[in-house]
Amino acid sequence: MTYTRNLPDSYKTNLPVFGNFDVIVVGGGPAGISAAVNAAELGRSVLLIERRAFCGGAAVSGMSGTICGLYLTVDDPHKGTPEQIVFGFAERFRSTLYTQGGLTAPQIYGKTWVATHDCATYKRVSTGMLREANVTVLLHTQMIDVITQDNTLSGVVLHTKSGFTTAYGKRIIDCSGDADVVYRMGLATTKGNNGVIQNPTMIFKVGNVDMPKYLKYWGADTISPPKVVNMLMAHDALLRKKVWLFPTVNQGELLVNATKITGFDGRALDVTDHVDHTEAEQFSMYQALEFFNFMRNNVPGCEDSYFIDYANEVGVRQTRSIVGRARLTNDDVANTRKFANGIVNSSWPIELHYGAKPKTEWLYNDYYQVPFETLIPEVGDNIIVAGRCLSSEHQALASCRVTAQCFEYGKAAALAADLSISENKAFRDIDGVQIAELMRQ
Ligand SMILES: Cc1cc2nc3c(=O)[nH]c(=O)nc-3n(C[C@H](O)[C@H](O)[C@H](O)COP(=O)(O)OP(=O)(O)OC[C@H]3O[C@@H](n4cnc5c(N)ncnc54)[C@H](O)[C@@H]3O)c2cc1C
Repeated sequence: MTYTRNLPDSYKTNLPVFGNFDVIVVGGGPAGISAAVNAAELGRSVLLIERRAFCGGAAVSGMSGTICGLYLTVDDPHKGTPEQIVFGFAERFRSTLYTQGGLTAPQIYGKTWVATHDCATYKRVSTGMLREANVTVLLHTQMIDVITQDNTLSGVVLHTKSGFTTAYGKRIIDCSGDADVVYRMGLATTKGNNGVIQNPTMIFKVGNVDMPKYLKYWGADTISPPKVVNMLMAHDALLRKKVWLFPTVNQGELLVNATKITGFDGRALDVTDHVDHTEAEQFSMYQALEFFNFMRNNVPGCEDSYFIDYANEVGVRQTRSIVGRARLTNDDVANTRKFANGIVNSSWPIELHYGAKPKTEWLYNDYYQVPFETLIPEVGDNIIVAGRCLSSEHQALASCRVTAQCFEYGKAAALAADLSISENKAFRDIDGVQIAELMRQ
C-alpha cells in the first residue's frame, strides 16, 4: 500500500498552538519517560506526547514484563550473584519500582538476570516521576506530522479527540520507538534485515499457578528447559519453540512471553503497516490461547491456572531505525567494543526473534558500549532520537533495544538537548565524549 507521509505546509501553519517548549518528547516508553524527566530536572520546559492512556511503552502496553540489560552476562548465574553494569536513570527507576513492591528480585535468564515488573506499579511510578519533574504530559495525543523548513524541525502537529493542534519546541526528542518524527521529516530510516523485522509477540498473564510445583518442574531459569522445548517441537499449532515464563510479584502469577506472531498465512508482518498490524493483533489472540492450553495440559503447577489477560497490544521489537551519524554494528556488539563516547554499557545477548526458536548469542563476562552519535540523525536539525529506533544494524539492535539501555538513551538525549540549547549548538556539534562523561557522573 502507498501512503502520504505529510500534510500540506499551508494546512499546518494555520493550526492552533498548544504551547512553546524547550523540549518536546514524542513517545512515553522507557526512553521517553527518562528523556522527559531528565530534561525537566535540568530546568527545561518539557512537553511529553503519548498516544496511549499511560506511559511505559512496550514495557507496559505490550507487557514486555522485565527490566533486561541491567546485569553482566556470566558463565553460570546459578553459581553467582548479579553484577549490575547500568546505573543512572535505569537504577533510579528500578529502585523506585522495587521499593513500591512492583519489581521482583533478579531472576535467572539463561546466562544473566532480569527483574520482572508489575505494569500497574510501572504506570504509577512513571506518572509520579513525570508530575514531580513538572513535565507537561499529553496522553491520548498522537504526533501525526512535523513542522520543518529545510530539514530544520521546529514543531509537531498533534491529533487529539477535539481536533488538530500544534506544539513548538527548541529541540525535539523522538522516543516513538518507530522513529515517527524522523520518518515524517522525510529523513532516511532502515527496517530490519532488508525490510524483514523481528517477529512480534503477544504477552499474557496467567493466575492461580501452584508456584512451588511449577518451579520444581521448570527450574530457576526463566527460559524453557529442554524438556519443554521438546514438547513444543511436537506441537504444530504453536509457532514458537523456545519460550520465557516469569514469576511476577503477585502470588501464583506468571508472565508468559511465548508467542511468535505472523500473519494467518505464516508470512512475516511489517507492523508499521496498519493492515499487517491489525492482523498481528488478531493472530495473537489465537496463539496466546493455544499456548495457555498447552501450559494447562503439560506444565505441572499450571493445571488449575486461569488466563488473566492479554497485553494491551502486541509487543513490537523492531520497526524503523534511523540512519545516524554513527551506527552500532553487529561487530561492535559481538566484539564487546567500548567507545570514549559510549553512553551506556550493555551485556545483553543478541536476542533475535526470527524463526521457530529465538536465537540468543551471549556476551560472556563483558559488555559493549553504545556511541552517543547513534542517537543523532545524519541529516536534520533540532532532532535527536532515544530508544529502540537508534541507528543500529539488525543483530546489534536485537541486543541494544532492551529497557535498561533505553532509559539511558533517554537520559543522554536529554543532556544533549539541554547542552544544545544552552550553548546554541546543533546536535551534530555536541561532543559525544562530554555526554559520555556526564552520563558517568
Ligand atoms: C514482546 C517483547 C518483549 C520484550 N521483553 C523485554 C523484556 O523482558 N525486558 C526488556 O528490558 N525489554 C524487553 N523488550 C524490549 C522493550 O520493551 C522495548 O525495546 C522498549 O520498550 C523500547 O523502549 P522505547 O521507549 O524505545 O519504545 P517503546 O517502548 O516502543 O515506546 C514508544 C512509545 O511511543 C508512543 N508513540 C509511538 N508513536 C507515537 C506517536 N506518533 N505519537 C505519540 N506517541 C507515540 C507509543 O505509544 C509508546 O508508548 C521486549 C519487547 C517486546 C516487543
